[in-house]
Amino acid sequence: MSDIIQLLPDHVANQIAAGEVVQRPASVVKELLENAIDANGTHIKLIIKEAGKTLIQVIDDGMGMSVTDARLSFERHATSKIKAAEDLFELNTKGFRGEALASIAAIAHVELKTKQENDEVGTEIKIEGSEVISQEVCVTPKGTSISVKNLFYNIPARRNFLKSNSVELRHIIDEFHRVAMAHPAIKFDMYHNGSEVFNLPDSNNRQRIVNIFGGKTNEKLVPVEEETDLVTISGFVGKPEYAKRSRGEQFFFVNNRFIKSAYLNHAVSAAFEGLLKDKAHPSYFIYLKVDPKSIDINIHPTKTEIKFEDEHALYAMLRSTIKHSLGQFNVAPVLDFNRDASMDTPYEYKSKMAQAPTIEVDRSFNPFKEEKTSGGGSTGKKYTHFKKEPAGSWENLYVGLESESNISKTKDDEFSTVEFESTEVTGSLFEEDEKKVKHQTTYQLRRKYIVTTIKSGMVIINQNRAHQRILYEEILRGITMASTVSQQLLFPLKLSFSKQEITLLKTVREQLENTGFVFGKLTAGEVEITGIPSVISEKEVSVLLEQLLSDLENEVPDSGFSQTDLLAKSIAKSVAIRTGVELAPEQLQYMANSLFACTEPTITPDNKPTFITLTVDEIDKKF
Ligand code: ADP
Ligand code: MG
Repeated sequence: MSDIIQLLPDHVANQIAAGEVVQRPASVVKELLENAIDANGTHIKLIIKEAGKTLIQVIDDGMGMSVTDARLSFERHATSKIKAAEDLFELNTKGFRGEALASIAAIAHVELKTKQENDEVGTEIKIEGSEVISQEVCVTPKGTSISVKNLFYNIPARRNFLKSNSVELRHIIDEFHRVAMAHPAIKFDMYHNGSEVFNLPDSNNRQRIVNIFGGKTNEKLVPVEEETDLVTISGFVGKPEYAKRSRGEQFFFVNNRFIKSAYLNHAVSAAFEGLLKDKAHPSYFIYLKVDPKSIDINIHPTKTEIKFEDEHALYAMLRSTIKHSLGQFNVAPVLDFNRDASMDTPYEYKSKMAQAPTIEVDRSFNPFKEEKTSGGGSTGKKYTHFKKEPAGSWENLYVGLESESNISKTKDDEFSTVEFESTEVTGSLFEEDEKKVKHQTTYQLRRKYIVTTIKSGMVIINQNRAHQRILYEEILRGITMASTVSQQLLFPLKLSFSKQEITLLKTVREQLENTGFVFGKLTAGEVEITGIPSVISEKEVSVLLEQLLSDLENEVPDSGFSQTDLLAKSIAKSVAIRTGVELAPEQLQYMANSLFACTEPTITPDNKPTFITLTVDEIDKKF
């Protein structure tokens, strides 16, 4: 057989390399910004159009390139930054692989303009899909400008794979933040579709963080400082009371390079141990300086993961340094030692219990009365969580369930046998004179489950999940029927969000307004809310928006429906009564009623079961 192996042509090799280096517009942003920094730029401009899908341009005032270098910079493995393998361990630059420009030029339309300080004129090169279209002399200021247009134009599959503009923009902003935070002495601007998104003057670490995340960040920061032979640690951690439920603001920089490290993240969490509520994540901005010899950055093509020589020592040092800072700045509680582990859970419960007053129930409210007043009648006294009109009677519930049985496929069998003990329960708990209660049939178990009986046995409802389902349907109905009732706030609620979060909130502004939110202001740094949905209480707003932002971070669906759906899910999740909250008998009853009045009572909005049934047969078997 004849030989079949051949070397790939350069443009094909470049395209393959591009697959590794360029996943999305944000990857291009990162590479171009890093090149500008390596070129000693002092003022770097990032210009984006349509989340980078049409244009990504980076302009720097750095050293520029000679005519030959300009042409060579697009060759694969062409770099000015290392000459030999040993240099890999003396790196002081961001780049060194010499792959970025070649990769980018393989999958986009690229225009480069560059000039060195002492040259009269500069060089302009146009490349499309690795092919040089033109090279000319041009007039341009000192430094380099690279525009990348129509990314992935020749790889439709990759282009189609890109997420919505809001998601891609979000990734770009993330990269921009990481680079800008690592280099506070450099001035950075960012523009998107013609308007300025960031304007960061040259400053110090703290000021840079504040300029990015908003004025109120300043008071949240606790400085962290330590110098040893192995590492110099500086930066900040967020005070524990500001810890968020999303992992948003967590940054490690090693020798001015943003890195991800689950191991070091664990060290920070360990330093916060006992100070955070369940599920809260501390924010941190930690800058580590180590000997370049002691790390290996080469293990990841996009260079966000690195290997440390002495990871264990680093872990220990980081943890103790942060612990010390928290103690020194009086953030850690004095009684931090000898903690009884069993105190950990009640700690959370205690704070949950403190919120109990938000679950007000209108005790005169009778779900069994025919002329139920909804909306207008109830706005004065809000029984926040229990606004939904429940089923008229247990018989109706039964009817509803029957028609539901085909929806829940797994529970078919159980459902056909589910029969609510109407004779036992018809006695309403609300009007004892009208119909007498024989005995209470709904109980709360461990502040987590609602247990009630049915003819065939018993139902065990998960209170949090059930409430998610109830709220979810209620919110959806409110939005789609545009019948939402908004509560006017007496005093506008002022919240502070980063520019990035505002950008994200704006993408769902309309939907938020449909749920009942009324915004006075929704601008950089400040959000003013004058009205909120009637299903939530004022103090839940910030948690809710935070949860929403963290949900949106992961996915911003394009279509109106899925946006509404995401919003309803997110609100339901953050507002639903949690495990650990004690419910009054009326509330238990109300939850059960409302759940079974839902269109899809069996599952939460994210498909987790809301209740289980235990038939007498099953119970019998256990004896
Ligand atoms: P690397 O950064 O890994 O060296 P790149 O493909 O990103 O590889 O860049 C190739 C070379 O082009 C760099 O080594 C540098 O010499 C030159 N270069 C790229 N961008 C700039 C810039 N903005 N200013 C000056 N030189 C640049
Ligand atoms: Mg580079």
